[in-house]
Amino acid sequence: MIHQKGIPMKSVDESKLREIFGENNVKTDPSDLYAFGSDSSVHHAMPWAVVRPDNTEQVQKLMVYANEALIPVIPRGGGSGMCGQTVPIYGGIMLDMKHMNRILEINLPDVYCRVEPGVVDDDLNLALKPHGMFYPPTPASSRIATIGGEIANNASGVRSVKYGATRDAVLGMKVVMPNGDLVTLGAHTRVEASGYQLHKLMVGSEGTLGIVVEATLNFVPIPEYRCMGIANFDHLSHAGAAIGAIMSSGATPSMLELVDSVAIKAVNKTMNF
Ligand SMILES: Cc1cc2nc3c(=O)[nH]c(=O)nc-3n(C[C@H](O)[C@H](O)[C@H](O)COP(=O)(O)OP(=O)(O)OC[C@H]3O[C@@H](n4cnc5c(N)ncnc54)[C@H](O)[C@@H]3O)c2cc1C
Repeated sequence: MIHQKGIPMKSVDESKLREIFGENNVKTDPSDLYAFGSDSSVHHAMPWAVVRPDNTEQVQKLMVYANEALIPVIPRGGGSGMCGQTVPIYGGIMLDMKHMNRILEINLPDVYCRVEPGVVDDDLNLALKPHGMFYPPTPASSRIATIGGEIANNASGVRSVKYGATRDAVLGMKVVMPNGDLVTLGAHTRVEASGYQLHKLMVGSEGTLGIVVEATLNFVPIPEYRCMGIANFDHLSHAGAAIGAIMSSGATPSMLELVDSVAIKAVNKTMNF
């Protein structure tokens, strides 16, 4: 239902949600709704219900129902987004993807893995480590951030200097569209020259275009050797010039962090140095 200003009116059929997700995977207690009303930003708004799918079919059924009833659906991973992307400012149904957290395949010869969206970044890297591989985009929030949330945000991390951001690591995905249709985008190969690169369009779409229910990701070998250097500069401009010189030297560092005096003082204060 939509009222005159185009904002949905609070109306959700709880029995329909319980029919789709089962009794235990539908939350409507005010305490649950409150907890799901914010992410890592300062914003807060209450959803009307929280649901936890175990599989793609449930996501499809939800989208069919919500589309017909004109109810907003907000997909949510770890809730570590810092800009309020999962805060339900118009209410609606919070789709908590954390139960869909299986690593479906690790294919070493073809260098890809298939995962469900609720897989936590660190858990994927734990699974890849025994194979001598890692998934590089990894934001600093990797202990809680999920692959679905990272895809929706095009997350990147300190190693993105060398390895790129999430968009560079995503080969393909399965997405439930707003009308409940399931589409397969991209491929399992690093190079796919034919057709539109629609999976790349999904990366960074912040949950606005569809619900990612499976992702195919590229991974890379863990480097055999690692080393770190620290250089001190008297002026920010000299540090900037050094970064340019390093990047054009032929050496490709995986990380380049510029820490200014304000940040160093803050760290020293915290560590009591
Ligand atoms: C301490 C800290 C450090 C951080 N460091 C970094 C960093 O180094 N680099 C960086 O890029 N970000 C960083 N972030 C921001 C954030 O952690 C990342 O952007 C992360 O990718 C969000 O993942 P999430 O699972 O928590 O997503 P959420 O916050 O739950 O959701 C983020 C967006 O993804 C959508 N979404 C979630 N799942 C799906 C799905 N299955 N299908 C479609 N849409 C979906 C949501 O609707 C929302 O729009 C940091 C955050 C914190 C708190």
